[in-house]
Amino acid sequence: MDGTLDNDIRAVVDADRAHVWHHLTQHKPFETGDPRIIIEGKGMRVWDQNGKEYLDAVSGGVWTVNVGYGRAQIADAVRDQLMKLCYFAQSAGSIPGSIFAQKLIEKMPGMSRVYYTNSGSEANEKAFKMIRQIAHKKYGGTKHKILYRDRDYHGGTLAAMSAGGQDERNMQYGPFAPGFVRVPHCLEYRKEELGLGHLSGREFGIAAANLIEEVILREGPDTIGGLCLEPVTAGGGVITPPEGYWERVQEICKQYNILLHIDEVVCGIGRTGSQWFGYQHYGIKPDFVTMAKGVASGYAAIAICVTTEEVFEMFKSDPSDKLDHFRDISTFGGCVAGPAAALENMKIIEDEGLLENCTAMGARLMGNLRALMEKHAVIGDVRGIGLFQGAELVKDRTTKEPVDEKDMAAVVAACGAAGLIIGASNRSIPGRNNVLCFSPALIVTADDIDFIT
Ligand code: PLP
Repeated sequence: MDGTLDNDIRAVVDADRAHVWHHLTQHKPFETGDPRIIIEGKGMRVWDQNGKEYLDAVSGGVWTVNVGYGRAQIADAVRDQLMKLCYFAQSAGSIPGSIFAQKLIEKMPGMSRVYYTNSGSEANEKAFKMIRQIAHKKYGGTKHKILYRDRDYHGGTLAAMSAGGQDERNMQYGPFAPGFVRVPHCLEYRKEELGLGHLSGREFGIAAANLIEEVILREGPDTIGGLCLEPVTAGGGVITPPEGYWERVQEICKQYNILLHIDEVVCGIGRTGSQWFGYQHYGIKPDFVTMAKGVASGYAAIAICVTTEEVFEMFKSDPSDKLDHFRDISTFGGCVAGPAAALENMKIIEDEGLLENCTAMGARLMGNLRALMEKHAVIGDVRGIGLFQGAELVKDRTTKEPVDEKDMAAVVAACGAAGLIIGASNRSIPGRNNVLCFSPALIVTADDIDFIT
């Protein structure tokens, strides 16, 4: 007890220290110090238990609160819906679930069916299960393997971790599910690791995609059912795809009859600017799209796996066979508060022109980061799209050796002390985060961007 906090808040902090196990957190320091408790949020800003104000440059810490804090419009819609109907299993439909599905599909030409669930991990697992079931229905189970990419992340459940390309997150949790096979990353800044140091631009992009083909040929194309990729890698170090990459990836999927699953958990719902989804910037035609974080900006838990009609049709081939459908359920998937919040969230993005603001403020952020890079040799690379950007910190621009973890932690702590919350993500070396992440809410202003940088 330090006596400096209001008694009610002190009780909250003490209860937290005594009983809450925080995500991604080493708790030893809390034996002597307090954990941070976020008490309130409004617009771009949050306040902690000490009343300290922060500009939140990572939208709730993990790219989530796309429309900012304190939106009465969303809260009212959720309350109204809960009073009308709080819950019914998704084997039946609901008013917000049906309307949101229609509105979402209008924004996703070529896609058709919306499967509701709770978290990004689960949405990805739904797609994995569908791909596995298609392998059984169409190919006698042989075409069951799922490819995932080095540095991509798809969630914290065990099957999602089996498709996890960030080794540092997976260490000590194995063994993982069989049938998931890794393909190389496509980060041009680190192209030497791929043996492609002599290539650049489009040539590099095509060669990086061809590395996927090499894995397919090694494993046997008849064994590969799906390829799961983030359109732009998020937590793995903000990796934008090189020119030509996606075009070639799609040719490869087509040639070997592999279903393409795009993980939009971070990129989706406007984060990349001008488009609703990251994949729409690259002319991608997916078979599955999964999304979560920005769908309801954190006002309610909701995640979605969207498929094409062609995929959906495969699950109703034999009505007399009791096993011939997608035999999956998620108790809270489609809890009606989720789509009720998602509808208002989408309306806010449209009414306030937030896709356009994201593009404009993203350009300002990138311009500012590039200017910082010219001044400071510690910034080895800046990259990103829309309001989803990263700065890779290195000890030396020639060797590209990442800065030490303690220095990175010091940068994040110094920002915190100055009233700015930013993120740090990991590019490659286990335990060594060296990419600063910037992903403010889509309502961010020019002044906020300048404050951040
Ligand atoms: N996919 C990506 C790209 C993510 O970044 C995350 C979480 O950060 C997930 C999936 C998992 O989402 P969730 O934490 O909601 O399970």
